[in-house]
Amino acid sequence: MNDSFSTRRQLSVNGKSLTYYSLPALGEHFDLSKLPYSMKILLENLLRHEDGGMTVGREHIEAVAQWDATKDPDTEIAFMPARVVLQDFTGVPCVVDLAAMRDAVTRLGGNARQINPLIPSELVIDHSVQVDVFGRPDALDLNGKIEFERNMERYSFLRWGQKAFENFKVVPPNTGIVHQVNLENLARVVVEREVKTDDGASELQAFPDTVFGTDSHTTMINGIGVLGWGVGGIEAEAAMLGQPSSMLIPQVVGFKLTGKLPEGTTATDLVLTVTQMLRKLGVVGKFVEFYGEGLQHLPLADRATIANMAPEYGATCGIFPIDAEALNYLRLSGRSEAQIALVEAYAKAQGLWHEPGAPEATYSATLSLDLGDVKPSLAGPKRPQDRVLLEDMQVNFNDNLTGLIVGRKARVGCAESDFKEEGGAQPQASHLAAKPQSKIRIHDQDAYLHDGSVVIAAITSCTNTSNPAVMLGAGLLARNAAKLGLKAKPWVKTSLGPGSLVVTDYLRKAGLLDDLEQLGFYVVGYGCTTCIGNSGPLPDVVSKGIAENDLVVASVLSGNRNFEGRVHPEVKMNYLASPPLVVAYAIAGTVDIDLTRDPLATTADGTPVYLRDLWPSNKEIGDLIAATVGPELFAQNYADVFKGDNRWNQIASPEGESFRWDEASTYIKNPPYFDGMTMAVGHIADIEGARVMGLFGDSITTDHISPAGNIKKDSPAGRFLQARGVQPADFNSYGSRRGNDDVMVRGTFANIRIKNLMLGGEEGGNTLYYSPGGAAPEKLAIYDAAMKYKADGVPLVVFAGKEYGTGSSRDWAAKGTNLLGVRAVVAESFERIHRSNLVGMGVLPLQFQAGENAQTLGLDGSETISITGLVDGASRTATVVARRADGSEKRFEVKVLLLTPKEVEYFRHGGILHYVLRQLAARRAA
Ligand code: SF4
Repeated sequence: MNDSFSTRRQLSVNGKSLTYYSLPALGEHFDLSKLPYSMKILLENLLRHEDGGMTVGREHIEAVAQWDATKDPDTEIAFMPARVVLQDFTGVPCVVDLAAMRDAVTRLGGNARQINPLIPSELVIDHSVQVDVFGRPDALDLNGKIEFERNMERYSFLRWGQKAFENFKVVPPNTGIVHQVNLENLARVVVEREVKTDDGASELQAFPDTVFGTDSHTTMINGIGVLGWGVGGIEAEAAMLGQPSSMLIPQVVGFKLTGKLPEGTTATDLVLTVTQMLRKLGVVGKFVEFYGEGLQHLPLADRATIANMAPEYGATCGIFPIDAEALNYLRLSGRSEAQIALVEAYAKAQGLWHEPGAPEATYSATLSLDLGDVKPSLAGPKRPQDRVLLEDMQVNFNDNLTGLIVGRKARVGCAESDFKEEGGAQPQASHLAAKPQSKIRIHDQDAYLHDGSVVIAAITSCTNTSNPAVMLGAGLLARNAAKLGLKAKPWVKTSLGPGSLVVTDYLRKAGLLDDLEQLGFYVVGYGCTTCIGNSGPLPDVVSKGIAENDLVVASVLSGNRNFEGRVHPEVKMNYLASPPLVVAYAIAGTVDIDLTRDPLATTADGTPVYLRDLWPSNKEIGDLIAATVGPELFAQNYADVFKGDNRWNQIASPEGESFRWDEASTYIKNPPYFDGMTMAVGHIADIEGARVMGLFGDSITTDHISPAGNIKKDSPAGRFLQARGVQPADFNSYGSRRGNDDVMVRGTFANIRIKNLMLGGEEGGNTLYYSPGGAAPEKLAIYDAAMKYKADGVPLVVFAGKEYGTGSSRDWAAKGTNLLGVRAVVAESFERIHRSNLVGMGVLPLQFQAGENAQTLGLDGSETISITGLVDGASRTATVVARRADGSEKRFEVKVLLLTPKEVEYFRHGGILHYVLRQLAARRAA
């Protein structure tokens, strides 16, 4: 390694001497005094990996040290995280790919053992538990049982991976949610590691903990000063295999916090406010850094809540510095005194330590918020950035309802025969019609469902479950409600999904678990549940009631994602809210209510109860945190974090370096990416004679492209599974079948809510297939059409609007696109991770020129497309020619979004995994 600026120093701590690359030493060459915290972390990363320019050169260090806050990002640097965290939905396909690479590297002349994570890679199984059972004491046990039955093959495979790969650990199911486990246990904040030196010896080094995670909310760890963000599985695999990740030196937006949260508000209200402000500013591709005297009043848990939602505000990360509060949290969560001493000593030695009143850094732009101005809020009904003041909720619901009931048949709560005499069902004149209602019989009582009925109330998601203030706040509200004899309405599916075992313990210690249970909030599982779409089926009577009048019902969840179709296919409106508000809406049973003015329920004697009667004070919550949340809870629950329970330990799993694939498995399959691969590198060719597979509007999410939720019985994936003897009840979710490309490719673009404009915008994953013979176009499921095009030898393209690929990082959104035969996606703009994943899978991302899109160019998807001028990746632009059936043409220029030389290189190889494989195989051959 090089050390052009002579920055290697020794740090004495805990009686040891550790080598580190000193930023103050570099400060003798450059003025680093105004550099943001996050840029200093990037700089240290470069200093430690300087290798004469192969990956990091002197010029890269100079570029970051002389960072120009206002410059548009155009300088590429390498970043090598200290570790990787994975969750099981995205982690299983990573391990499948690693297993497939072991086979492939052997075929190319290498050795299977060359394929191992080179940095600590920790996978937390948290995304598979589903809320099948709720509202009863055995819900946790039964959901766990069903989870293991459904996922046995995947779990057996992961247990094989745990044994076969070095540097790879698995946190078993029923432990917690990945980001919360990361915060509470896995994060080191400062790493102490034995590192190989050039002379073959090794030395003990100290450096900042940095992390890539295969989940977009990896940013939660930014709350404790760890720089990291979500990447696609493809980038994570590369990082695990020791490949640097290329990035452009980002802009950094400073977010100044002052004041203190007022009485009656929560960290959830704060994060929804921050999200709305940052979305408005526009921070896509940027780092956000929080600073200001408000930090002193912001517990670590609140910081983590804010950091968690970086994907919702669109930033790469949302980071807080290391300070005394970070150390308090490390102590609270049971980290060793030696680790805490290392964090403090290193942060102080490096100028990464934050003291109140410290001089402010220079930022690319700044925003500020007085915490005292935050008001109780929700966000929805379908985007996390659409904050709604609690006092405006009823109006918001009704405004949004209007658009959702246009053309709905009026039933008005009576049987159709009741009004046949009058002409039967007529299209409803929306707001003029009487409100429909469905009578249902549930829990031995009659009830009525309406538009706005809350059918799911879920305390869920690491965003909030990591935060004792909102969890204990929910418990206290439940206690106050239970004392008055209130309950959740019978049609509400109530669930409590604690983010870790610690949460249940402090709720129990505070005596609040019973109160939550009285309201119907029994623990349903330790995992993502509703936030990822694992909300499970609604009771049959509720489903029927919704269908009977095509009701627009709602969910209220303490999660961070509420895209259409995400939470539950039968629920069109989804509001994000703090856990206490989730409990309140469960009691009210409707979002068609103003909780600031109307009573949410009445007691048995008819006394109205208002939200303000139930809401606990900040002091009450603070006192309870002090009394119940202590290091012993963390120590107890994390002592054997990788061990797992009996169910986990009884899973049989194969042995051996290479995985023995089971051809009959519908969960785990050797993917076809490396079939027929040789050592020869390809080139980036122009695309001719392509057909349009989809013409989409704005904000197509990765969930639209590759849904994680239910597999429909009559979908291509559903038909495939049934043909292999899998009954619909055992379909499980797409997310759980990401280890099987046969299922996943059939699910690509199969979201029931995706609208293909080629079909006039109707919902469902269909398209028009144009046969080579010129027959009339045929409406087919996208997978079926893609396979016909494949048989015809016709490449495919996708056209889309703004923010294509927004939402959770999801490598299958790129893998499935590739396997369908899509060669290029032309969009107005791309979400950062999805663009990079497309590149990683050999699908070309192209961008319309500003002001242009498929509509302004008059494209309807019937055209034949050619894309020329790619010049083997050397050109920044390409020419698209769309030929219509009548022979006329539309010609336009697009930007080629291969952003770095390394990306061009990956693309030539056919993708990042092919690139890595050839490097490793060549090393072996040499
Ligand atoms: S709870 Fe939600 S945000 Fe957290 S990891 Fe799970 S899906 Fe992601």
